[in-house]
Amino acid sequence: MNISIETSLEKARKLNRLRSVPSDYELENVKKELLALMQKINAQIVCHYYVDAAIQDFAISSGGVVADSLEMARFGKESNAEVLIVAGVRFMGETAKILSPDKKVIMPNLAANCSLDLGCEIESFKRFCSNHPNRTVVVYANTSAEVKAFSDWVVTSSCAVSIINYLKENQQEIIFAPDMHLGDYLKKTTGADILNWDGHCVVHDEFKAFELKELKSRMPEAEVVIHPESPASVIELADFVGSTSQMINFVASSNKKKFIIGTDNGLIHMMKKKAPDKQFFEAPTAGNGATCKSCAHCPWMEMNDLRDILAVLRDGRNEILVPKEISYSARKSIEKMLAFNQLKDVPKNRKTL
Ligand code: SF4
Repeated sequence: MNISIETSLEKARKLNRLRSVPSDYELENVKKELLALMQKINAQIVCHYYVDAAIQDFAISSGGVVADSLEMARFGKESNAEVLIVAGVRFMGETAKILSPDKKVIMPNLAANCSLDLGCEIESFKRFCSNHPNRTVVVYANTSAEVKAFSDWVVTSSCAVSIINYLKENQQEIIFAPDMHLGDYLKKTTGADILNWDGHCVVHDEFKAFELKELKSRMPEAEVVIHPESPASVIELADFVGSTSQMINFVASSNKKKFIIGTDNGLIHMMKKKAPDKQFFEAPTAGNGATCKSCAHCPWMEMNDLRDILAVLRDGRNEILVPKEISYSARKSIEKMLAFNQLKDVPKNRKTL
């Protein structure tokens, strides 16, 4: 694993280990003070499905949003708030700032990163692309502002299939970065000519096909719902493959009662809210063994804490800033994606492999 990923991961794990669990009393006081402060400065929380359930619930009750990265970007852009508090990881804060340059964007912890973002450093990526100058550069939202600024298109997992299909119809050959598993899934689903960058998510990469097969055989009535950042051998066992929002919609509308979920286990909180009569089981990873980096929960997402949100809001710390020129170019690619999604229906990705 790339050394910057290893170092950042270790830092996140250490911080998570050392953090105390707040009592209900402490949490209630934090929420009260936070709400008063947010109302005073006109702030809203834009939160990802993978963060702590207490933050998700507070975001909704205080008028913010819990969403996937596409919806987070759209919500932040359209919000009337003057301050956006992004509970997620670094690239989500940068995307919010790029789309809302006049708003103040803060994050509870600036060290909350992503293995995909860290594994796609701009200078190496530029060198890679310069060896294939005729290819259209499509990057996942999980990248730095610099990588987005360099790209032709930005996609999220909820719109990647539609955009790649569109590029294929227009005879484009593609470089896709940074997630190789998502790139492979797109290649198989669309038949497009895709050259992948070699990166992966430390959470989804750990799902194991052998163990999943065993779990399936013990629960044949359960549907297997998998995020496309997972390895191909795991995706092959899925009944449904889709982005986090698509996974939630699928389990809520299915007539089945049991589901095996192959993504960060933070998503199960929202699934239970949307489908309280159903049961959810985590897809197996290597467990707490030596090779398990995440055990189905992102250590960087876990760094988000309501107490830290209150602290940075009180002190005015941890503002996200993106240099103007980078922001301008990155915004063009992100807005192209948002405009594309307004024009096209995102298809239902029932598995077609
Ligand atoms: S779950 Fe994976 S893709 Fe998402 S932020 Fe964590 S490392 Fe990045």
